[in-house]
Amino acid sequence: MAALDLARLINAAADTIAVHAEELTALDQAIGDGDHGLNMKRGFEAVRAEAGAFSAKPLPEALKAIGTKLVMTVGGASGPLFGTLFLALGKEISAEPDRASLTAAFGKAIEAVAARGKSQVGQKTMLDVLQPVHDALAGGKTAAETAEIADAAAEATVPMKALRGRASFLGERSIGHMDAGARSTALLVRSVGEAIEADA
Ligand code: ADP
Ligand code: MG
Repeated sequence: MAALDLARLINAAADTIAVHAEELTALDQAIGDGDHGLNMKRGFEAVRAEAGAFSAKPLPEALKAIGTKLVMTVGGASGPLFGTLFLALGKEISAEPDRASLTAAFGKAIEAVAARGKSQVGQKTMLDVLQPVHDALAGGKTAAETAEIADAAAEATVPMKALRGRASFLGERSIGHMDAGARSTALLVRSVGEAIEADA
């Protein structure tokens, strides 16, 4: 894999969150407390503000620094969970990963999120997008195919009943709405994938 322009990936991620913040808020209003758009925007703008410093670090250190920043700034349930994803990815990844080692590290990072959230696939959370994305990477899918899989996976949370997070308080009434964290995860996957392709 070519050396990543991490600042470019950070900007792409922050851009997509900024553009979709209101949509994420609306999703979280339907079955949560309506803060997900603002939470994510605050966090990713904080990461963007230090994009230069982060991208000067070796990839593992950069990812850990991003994770720490997200934990400190996103808030809500999703802050520690997205933070854990990046922190664990930083711990597991090598400085110049190939696709196989990136996929393995991503798998470990998803396990760390599940442990932190005491959650698993099928409970209408970000994990319902993260896991199919991992499987797409493992299966050799392109960035564009992986983005489509992520979108479909977020869409597939609509008929699910939430079993974790605030939406679970609604029980059956959580059915019929997309999970906000699943949507934000799919947005991040698409933007990062497109930025990596553009770099290659
Ligand atoms: P809060 O729920 O505290 O208001 P956010 O609105 O920022 O925080 O984030 C909500 C999202 O976090 C949900 O849509 C879901 O995807 C994710 N989430 C919440 N709890 C868990 C959990 N235990 N495991 C995995 N993801 C979770
Ligand atoms: Mg919320």
